[in-house]
Amino acid sequence: MQRGTFQQMKSVNKSIILNKIRTSEPISRAQIAKETTLTPPTVSSIVKELIVQGIVRESELGASQGGRKPTMLLIDQTAFYVIGVDAGPESVACILTDLSGEVIERTASKINKPITNEQFIAIMKESIHQVMRSSSVSKDKLIGIGVAMHGVVEVEAGISLIAPNLGLTNIPIKMELEAEFNLIVQVENDARAMALGESWFGGHGELESMVAVNLGRGVGAGVVIKGKLYHGSQDIAGELGHMTIDIHGDVCECGNRGCLQTFATGKAIAGRARKEINGATEMLTGKDVFQHALAGDEAYIKILQETGEMLGVGLTNLIHLINPEKIVLGGGVTKSKKFILPAVKQTIDQRVLTPVAKRTEVAITNLGDDATLLGAVSLLLVDLFDPL
Ligand SMILES: [Zn+2]
Repeated sequence: MQRGTFQQMKSVNKSIILNKIRTSEPISRAQIAKETTLTPPTVSSIVKELIVQGIVRESELGASQGGRKPTMLLIDQTAFYVIGVDAGPESVACILTDLSGEVIERTASKINKPITNEQFIAIMKESIHQVMRSSSVSKDKLIGIGVAMHGVVEVEAGISLIAPNLGLTNIPIKMELEAEFNLIVQVENDARAMALGESWFGGHGELESMVAVNLGRGVGAGVVIKGKLYHGSQDIAGELGHMTIDIHGDVCECGNRGCLQTFATGKAIAGRARKEINGATEMLTGKDVFQHALAGDEAYIKILQETGEMLGVGLTNLIHLINPEKIVLGGGVTKSKKFILPAVKQTIDQRVLTPVAKRTEVAITNLGDDATLLGAVSLLLVDLFDPL
């Protein structure tokens, strides 16, 4: 649908009702009025509009509260679709999903470096055209395009300010894609998008606050408060990877010493193993460390346990600062969860100030490799469903 159509579809009251249905479906009109501040006539007239637009449908009758059985309402998950893009640094992946996050089409294109801003934008455009062409979803059923971009993003303007692993700066992603497709485009840092996707699709129920941490090439995180990303005043809230763990530690890519990122990425794990283990080859990768640990090699198991301890220290700091209800870990490093997670939990238990019965839960994501792509999709869904 065109950008203007999307804007017309939105209103605060509509979003309140949509969000209520989404989180409580199946639900009756009377129940919506009861659980929001809207009057029954307002609920009825807005629900009527939403049914005409196709996003809400009526289902079987619910249980009677004494009178006639009420008609229940559901979100029609296939009424609209969203495109999600995971952009860089190695490839541009693209999915087209329905409102429930069910993937209808996907593409992936490798990025050949060096690359210019124009070439990078061209790859994104081509990937999006490709998923649109190969699916039978018509363009007026598309709400918009969400882009999860590595590096520093200026969210409001949708500009990638610094994309370090591509060597690019100031890419006007939102402007370029909106001009090409005439759809709403939202751009966000990839770790933040992943965190939002986790809160939206991760099956955690309604959490007051959560933090999702991506442990991969770098350490990224996003803070989600009441279903919304918290950016901070300069968009760097959640830069957990650059939290100092050891002031005398190794130099990080940011220039500081001993950041969490110098302990908890695949590269950092492999680096420590090469240094500490006799016979470890120069070519050793994080994946190899995991394989050796799986085969029962104690020296490699110890490296992963130490990684868990360092991560536990970082997460304890995070709990003391934000005190989230839940912390969800994702990314390649969590494939070693068998060795890392127990050490993470033990370290937190030893250090954290919160009482035992109320400890922040630490879990591994269920979204797997699509977590960032679904995060890109959720950027648009929040816009449609969230009241404020
Ligand atoms: Zn750093």
